[in-house]
Amino acid sequence: KVSIFWYRRDLRLDDNAGLYYALRSKYPTLPIFIFDSEILDDLGNKHDARVEFIYKTLLDLQQQLTKLGSSIIVRYGKPLEVWKSLVEEFEIAEVHTNHDYENYAIKRDKQIGELLNAHGIGFYTHKDQTIFEKNEILTGNKTPYTVFTPYSRKWKEQLNDFYMKSYPTEKYFTDFLKIESQPIPSLNEIGFFETEQDFPKKIIDEKLIEKYDTLRDIPSIQGTSRLSVHLRFGTVSVRKLVQRAIKLNQTWLNELIWRDFYMNILHHFPHINEGEAFRREYDAIEWRNNEEEFQAWCEGKTGYPIVDAGMRELNQTGFMHNRVRMITASFLVKHLLIDWRWGEAYFAEKLLDYDFAANNGGWQWAAGSGCDAAPYFRIFNPTAQTKKFDPELKYVKRWVPEVSNFDYPEPIVEHTFARERVLKAYKTALDKK
Ligand code: FAD
Repeated sequence: KVSIFWYRRDLRLDDNAGLYYALRSKYPTLPIFIFDSEILDDLGNKHDARVEFIYKTLLDLQQQLTKLGSSIIVRYGKPLEVWKSLVEEFEIAEVHTNHDYENYAIKRDKQIGELLNAHGIGFYTHKDQTIFEKNEILTGNKTPYTVFTPYSRKWKEQLNDFYMKSYPTEKYFTDFLKIESQPIPSLNEIGFFETEQDFPKKIIDEKLIEKYDTLRDIPSIQGTSRLSVHLRFGTVSVRKLVQRAIKLNQTWLNELIWRDFYMNILHHFPHINEGEAFRREYDAIEWRNNEEEFQAWCEGKTGYPIVDAGMRELNQTGFMHNRVRMITASFLVKHLLIDWRWGEAYFAEKLLDYDFAANNGGWQWAAGSGCDAAPYFRIFNPTAQTKKFDPELKYVKRWVPEVSNFDYPEPIVEHTFARERVLKAYKTALDKK
């Protein structure tokens, strides 16, 4: 009999809660990963660097497991179908996995739990992605927080060694099932192709993080950790990062708390995962949704250099600096009066670190429809933002070299005009309430 650990967005051997509990069971542990055809078949672009990231990470895990005399089993298909065949193939005593807070994942896990239970197999799920989850952080009235600052205060108050403690999986590495290394389907076999993408390294630059509060808003330098893709796929442990953050920089710790916060919002307010605004009254806004303007925004051709630079950075690298994410998102929603969901979907397609909770949180923040969003009448001025955060145009020129030419295109919309237009549209919608 075996205990299975089902990998999803926690692709590492060290400090992994679910893997730890699988290894500690009475049975030898067999790790598995499923390339979910329901998700992959929906991806229009088959040169998807994220799929490649997962694939390369699996190869890496396989190497480590081979050294331990074991193997990961990798399958492609609909998870329920894959599990139906796994229960026939192996004598499974129990299955362990880590929590995932998205609606799709919750439904999937419920179905699979039922299938396994029907076969007399225990299905155990664990907290791993976040420091606090579900009802662990609540207000005095036992309600979830919807504003970041008091949430973060409570988060810090409740934090202790217990919540940060790493799971010492390495103590149990001899408990992996001893089997020959199993073949992993190639990228082509699952319908994808290699990309030329470089991925950021998995290490924390401690010198940089120490100065994070002074560097983080300057898009022309690498002043942030670039760990987002690793946090997204769990190639690093959030507990280990929090342990470092406490020693290195409180502002950086706050970013990790934002991550917990948005996952917590997703858990308590699942309607945001059904395409609705967090504040539903904002769904009354009449968006202009001009397709040509949307296209110009996507391509980085709005005539606002900072917006164009951000979109081109995104298109070329799969990354965009946080300050510029805020500027480009605000521009789409407020200046062009295009539904934030269009922008959310575009980022979802392009960002290497795409994570539903953080992306939706960021977009609804920009639209003013989210939890703890800036009031809608506060509208970013792209020119003022550039003067403040990229005064010498170092960032802009890297992505938009033609900005120094005299024939740089005119802005697609004039700032003051756009500002008045959006204020009116928001006011009309919200007055209906
Ligand atoms: P650092 O500044 O070094 O921060 C460390 C880590 O904290 C990040 O890796 C990330 O995991 C987390 N973090 C930081 N800021 C936030 C935040 N505001 N919300 C949630 N977590 C945060 N982040 C994503 O991980 N995925 C997304 O899909 C995503 N979409 C966004 C969309 C918009 C419109 C906006 C405004 C922000 C979005 N963010 C998203 C948040 C943020 O921009 C990125 O996490 C950050 O730029 C990643 O760079 P870094 O790893 O160098 O971050």
